[in-house]
Amino acid sequence: MGPGPSAIAPRVLEAMARPVIGHLDPEFVSLMDRIKAQLQRAFRTDNPLTMPVSGPGSAGMESCIVNLLEPGETVVICQNGVFGGRLKAMAERCGATVVDVKDEWGRAVSPEKLASTLDRTPQARVVAFVHAETSTGALSDAAALAGIAKDYDCLTIVDAVTSLGGSPLEVDLWGLDAVYSGTQKCLSCMPGLSPLTMSSRALQKIGQRRKPVQSWFMDVTLVAGYWGGSARRVYHHTAPVNALYGLDEALLMLHEESMEAAWLRHQRNHAVLCAGLEALGVDFFVPPAERIPQLNTVRVPAGINEARVRERLLEDFDIEIGAGLGALAGKVWRIGLMGHSSRRENVMACLAALGHLLMDEGLKVSVAEATAEAERALR
Ligand SMILES: *Cc1c(COP(=O)(O)O)cnc(C)c1O
Repeated sequence: MGPGPSAIAPRVLEAMARPVIGHLDPEFVSLMDRIKAQLQRAFRTDNPLTMPVSGPGSAGMESCIVNLLEPGETVVICQNGVFGGRLKAMAERCGATVVDVKDEWGRAVSPEKLASTLDRTPQARVVAFVHAETSTGALSDAAALAGIAKDYDCLTIVDAVTSLGGSPLEVDLWGLDAVYSGTQKCLSCMPGLSPLTMSSRALQKIGQRRKPVQSWFMDVTLVAGYWGGSARRVYHHTAPVNALYGLDEALLMLHEESMEAAWLRHQRNHAVLCAGLEALGVDFFVPPAERIPQLNTVRVPAGINEARVRERLLEDFDIEIGAGLGALAGKVWRIGLMGHSSRRENVMACLAALGHLLMDEGLKVSVAEATAEAERALR
């Protein structure tokens, strides 16, 4: 129950234990086609360039940055947490000039700030932002931000690592251009793959590059020869076959449940956790309208030893939660309810264990009351 990786369903683990086959085996080619179709359904897109990058979420992030930016170009990057900062660091390494849109940690990206920044930055052609900032627990309005970017004739790079499968994400409807995710958050698969999708507008910009992408491995025009729609696939790199068996199964589970039902489940379990935590006197860090249901960032109550409670949760109760990053270290806990981990029994177990430990630390709280409040929220 940390900020990822989430728990993996036994079905997915079993799928990963299947025998390795050649990465150009006809059987494997049909697996690739199935994964691609399932990713298009998950991202809600018809983009032909939709595939898992062989590498973690950060590899998907870097793929978008290195393909869409050239040295000397200007990019507007929204930053309201750790991952916005990582986008900026990657863009600078590409030789791009970064113009910041900064928001307080724990708040959504401000659409007004993005619009006024773009007003002052007519040379920008790309805007990048994080949909669900896992470092703080804040969800931004991706549809609004993308709409503004389009008004200023900018393409969007969108980090959907934590949002895909847990919160509504509509790539085509919202007009997002380059979107990447990760397999270890709400898809509940092993870490190490990064689903990616790119619009025809993004591919057009890449086609007009003055210089080739400096990363051979991440150049999407080369990878597309392997993952692309054509019947004749050419070797690019050896695909992580067993990881892809797992992704196929995890996506199958997601679509068996349906995207809408998964979003609702994440929202419901968040509401139940929230009711119980409030009864324990534990406050949320993010305002209600800006919370990511699958990542609950809460303030450590005054006088409580943050690390000791987290360690005892793991040692005594087998529950892992996350610590704060950067400026939030020691001040918050991050409780993940992602994918297969977003289950009623996990919420109740976490509330009971945390309540017990807070009592041990000397707080006057009632586990029975917290459980009763959580159960009331279920109805
Ligand atoms: C986890 C995460 C990443 C990085 O993913 P890795 O698989 O750790 O490289 C990027 N962005 C967000 C919002 C994340 O939550």
